[in-house]
Amino acid sequence: MALSGIQIYKLLPQTNCKECGFPTCLAFAMKLAAKQVELSACPYVSEESKALLEESSAPPIRLISLKSDGYEVKAGNEVVMYRHEKTFYNKPGLFVKIKTSSPEADVKTLAQRIQEYRVNYVGIDLEVDGIALEDDTNEGEKMKNAVKAVRSVCKKPLMLFATSAANLEPALTELNGESPLIGCATADSWEKFAELAKQYKASLAVMADNLDTLAELSEKIKGKGVEDIVLVPHGKNLGHELILQTQIRRLALKSNYRPLGYPTLAFCQTHAQMAQAIAKYAGFLVIDTFAEELAYPLLVLRQNIYTDPQKPIQVQPGLYEINNPQPTDPVLVTTNFSITYFSVANEVEGSGLPAYLLVADAEGMSVLTAWAAGKFDAERIAKAVKAVNLDAKVTRKRLVLPGAVAVLSGEVESELPGWEIRVGPREAVDIPKFYKQVLQAN
Ligand code: SF4
Repeated sequence: MALSGIQIYKLLPQTNCKECGFPTCLAFAMKLAAKQVELSACPYVSEESKALLEESSAPPIRLISLKSDGYEVKAGNEVVMYRHEKTFYNKPGLFVKIKTSSPEADVKTLAQRIQEYRVNYVGIDLEVDGIALEDDTNEGEKMKNAVKAVRSVCKKPLMLFATSAANLEPALTELNGESPLIGCATADSWEKFAELAKQYKASLAVMADNLDTLAELSEKIKGKGVEDIVLVPHGKNLGHELILQTQIRRLALKSNYRPLGYPTLAFCQTHAQMAQAIAKYAGFLVIDTFAEELAYPLLVLRQNIYTDPQKPIQVQPGLYEINNPQPTDPVLVTTNFSITYFSVANEVEGSGLPAYLLVADAEGMSVLTAWAAGKFDAERIAKAVKAVNLDAKVTRKRLVLPGAVAVLSGEVESELPGWEIRVGPREAVDIPKFYKQVLQAN
């Protein structure tokens, strides 16, 4: 059970020595109760108190890490129910299922596509995280051969699933030094799976269709010395899955209920299941099929949900050259919010028209938000022009402001004497038309 700040304080040395960085032991205790500091910051806690406090100060959802050669996928350590309360930290690992009955050549081809798949979204590289092998033949050798086939072309972390733990052991001998996930342990099979997980230092997925059984199983497995547990709540339908996932998160965070304080895994067949699992609250997803056109929206959705809402995604302020501009070509201005930048840059690039894109530092905000917050004004735009020495780069001094901040044009003219200030369209999609009809005509 979580201890209150006062209960924690009673277990601290109460000398107020300040070595932890807080003025008093009570202040440190309050931060510890809120899980905002680590117990190790106080070097003077007795061993007896430490044992009591470590249990209390452990994260409400255990951090689980799957590792392979050069790759790591983490889940857990989340601290809020809703993203806007703080942020979600560890993006749910996206794993693609491959059945062990598949011909070796097909396994290799798919594994290679997964290894090589990479897509850029607003300057961020997005990738699928790993492969989940499912034993659908009930033959340990087939699983072992599938692991070998995957490892010949793909280094990403693995999950190994079988109904019998014995069918996983030959494959695990192939994964020396890795930290895979195995499963799924059930009420009937958990002991064998727990022994295997302990022996091979694997994380263990535990499946049940209700929370009581999941909690009971996780406690039994922990009692066998396996702490890296992943819960698989098996719902009857989409709504039931949402209820189970939400209750697990709520019990872990709000009640600090340790038997359910683990990340979850969702097996997903439909797009709705996948989107729901990303939003609420899977730590790992296993999807049945892999297609680039499916992976992209899933990865983008995941990226958007797991972005810190208080830290907009930004690009580096500065001058970007698009389609090899010449000194007579126009300069378009925008802010350094990634999505704004890429919307404008992609439209200009796609049109084939040459232009300079001047990205002003607006603390990562979009045009209108930044203007409303006083972060994108005439002074900042003029400063951006001077910072990149634009006067020396262009012979025809034309600066195109975003249409949404047309109101700034007079002030920018005053800040930048000698420059011709134009007001562009409000939407990036209209830039090519504006360029051809207005900029090329004059
Ligand atoms: S380091 Fe420990 S003893 Fe010193 S003030 Fe902090 S909590 Fe108290």
